[in-house]
Amino acid sequence: MHNFLPIAYFEGQFRDFNDAKISIATHALHYGTGAFGGLRGIPDPQHPGQVLLFRLDRHSQRLSTSARLLNYDLPAETIQSVLIDFVKKNQPQVSFYMRPFVYTSDLGISPRLHQVEKNFFVYGLELGDYLSPEGVSCRISSWYRQEDRSLPLRGKISGAYITSSLAKTEAVESGFDEAILMNSQGKVSEASGMNVFIVRNGRLITPGFEQDILEGITRDSILTLARDLGIEVVERPVDKTELFIADEVFLSGTAAKITPVRQVETYTTPTHRPITTLLRDKLTAITEGRDPAYDPWIFRVAL
Ligand code: PMP
Repeated sequence: MHNFLPIAYFEGQFRDFNDAKISIATHALHYGTGAFGGLRGIPDPQHPGQVLLFRLDRHSQRLSTSARLLNYDLPAETIQSVLIDFVKKNQPQVSFYMRPFVYTSDLGISPRLHQVEKNFFVYGLELGDYLSPEGVSCRISSWYRQEDRSLPLRGKISGAYITSSLAKTEAVESGFDEAILMNSQGKVSEASGMNVFIVRNGRLITPGFEQDILEGITRDSILTLARDLGIEVVERPVDKTELFIADEVFLSGTAAKITPVRQVETYTTPTHRPITTLLRDKLTAITEGRDPAYDPWIFRVAL
């Protein structure tokens, strides 16, 4: 059970998390017609009374885009200002994760996106490491990542997470920690809730947007950081075999941060991970507000 933050934003107001409840007839519950975001907040160790939010603008924009795909006009500025107020109301003292959610809030049946009431809520929970920072084992999933011609993969559409859920459970119930999904072309797409990177001969390689991946904000940050550090970066289709022979493999996401992969199927990945470690240390310093060069990525909320 999670430790939830005490205050939620629900139906246009801040209220006790325990009082923020939806009806069993809620449209989105039946049809998966919601979309969510996920951001971490960290109390600034250097400046007590401040909370650091990583790339708040990008997260707000992505959720607004997801909302648009659901036929819901919700400006990024509205999302951003609710998230800032949410942090102030909760006064968090430990690291946490915020989950904003847009959804068809109408009561009633018939799958559609037009002429159906929508709404937006936010809640939060305390969150440490989502995956083991020591490294995880990954199974190649028997489930394939969906295609953009079937549903909009540029949004974090809640209904799409049935595939992630199937893949994760299959992986865990067969003794692995995480799943890596191929796309319909048989190329590497992403993990259940993270993007995938490999390192080969000093080059950082990750599947491009055309591989049916989610446009990960951590992924984007890693690509910028790597380029700034002088690491050669390539976005291209990745074969399954490359996961087995890579010098380094890691997963990236807001919850997972940078998580090394120690094994893919029966293949063990080397434990010497210079690029993964360099990028992880750098990203950690940035998210904790310790790297002035990347200060524009940090939004400081004064409690
Ligand atoms: N892929 C999927 C399917 C995800 O759910 C997530 C988590 N949001 C990611 C990738 C990583 O995205 P981000 O770095 O923006 O958290």
